[in-house]
Amino acid sequence: MILTYKIKHGRDFIEELKKARQVAEFALEHKTLSTKDVKHIGLKSIISNQILRKYSRNKKLKRVQHVNLTIPNQGIRVDKEQRLIKIPSLKLAVHYQFPNHFTKINQIEINGEYIFVSVTVPEQEPIETSKWMGIDLNTTGHVAVTANPETGKVEKLGKKAEHIRKKYKNIRKELQKEGKYRKVKKIKDREKRIVRDLNHKVSYEIVNEAKRSKSGIKMEMLKRVRMAKSRKSFRYSLNSWSFYQLQKMIEYKAKLLGVPIEYVDPAYTSKRCSRCGAIGNRNGKLFKCPECGHVDHADANAAFNIAFGPRIDRSVIDRDIAEGSTDTPKEATARTLPTLEPHML
Ligand SMILES: [Zn+2]
Repeated sequence: MILTYKIKHGRDFIEELKKARQVAEFALEHKTLSTKDVKHIGLKSIISNQILRKYSRNKKLKRVQHVNLTIPNQGIRVDKEQRLIKIPSLKLAVHYQFPNHFTKINQIEINGEYIFVSVTVPEQEPIETSKWMGIDLNTTGHVAVTANPETGKVEKLGKKAEHIRKKYKNIRKELQKEGKYRKVKKIKDREKRIVRDLNHKVSYEIVNEAKRSKSGIKMEMLKRVRMAKSRKSFRYSLNSWSFYQLQKMIEYKAKLLGVPIEYVDPAYTSKRCSRCGAIGNRNGKLFKCPECGHVDHADANAAFNIAFGPRIDRSVIDRDIAEGSTDTPKEATARTLPTLEPHML
């Protein structure tokens, strides 16, 4: 699996980034793959070579937008003992804190502030199991509720999310009233960071619990997320983005630890009674079954239904994912994985 970590580099690469842009523009115009043709620009050939290949070969790229410095594996030295990444061509050395068990660094991209380190990390073969935890992901209340039918245990995680959302919504409102739009953007970014940290913690807890109890994880297919995505307002976009991010984090952390993951159809998971299967009444976060009298937290009831639910055929899921990507499949896969802060995982 490929993961990308970002680290602040603390250097001024404005000149190099400018040159990289010139190389990209040259490549678009002349479609050349030879670094000799752009030697006059003065960028290190190991870097210009990457940009030439990207902009001369990819017919979809019509305009130069944002050009990063890309350094291939051959241009990177790693000292695992010192936890140091070195890029000799840029005389750059950066300390890293992410886990040392990566097998190789594929490439590094550099923008004005960060280096993005793409590493290959070994996956574990998923274990064989008949035990499944159901995870209900939500955009209101707790972000995740887990149910384990084996033990009857229910866990509600990420309650803070709602509080964070409310708090930042109010701050944004105030700033907008005062016309401080640049600050609004800053606040949005901060909220994103906080929510991402929370998602890391929640996904870590879920996958760890599954690993510990030798269970697999069942989640709903992403249909509800796509529904939320179609709404335009910021609240919805951030909610659905965070929801999608959490699911992706659970997926890749499970892969790293050999925890199997299956998906169930979201139809009826919140309406059906997890005891008797009848259609029940839902009022806010309260679920009541008119048939057997079962009363439960609505998300916990849903999580049990998910745990019991029949899995969806893998090929259907793959087709679904492919539908959602607008880019080449390979790039899309790499990009859907969240960028990690070094202290996470
Ligand atoms: Zn019932």
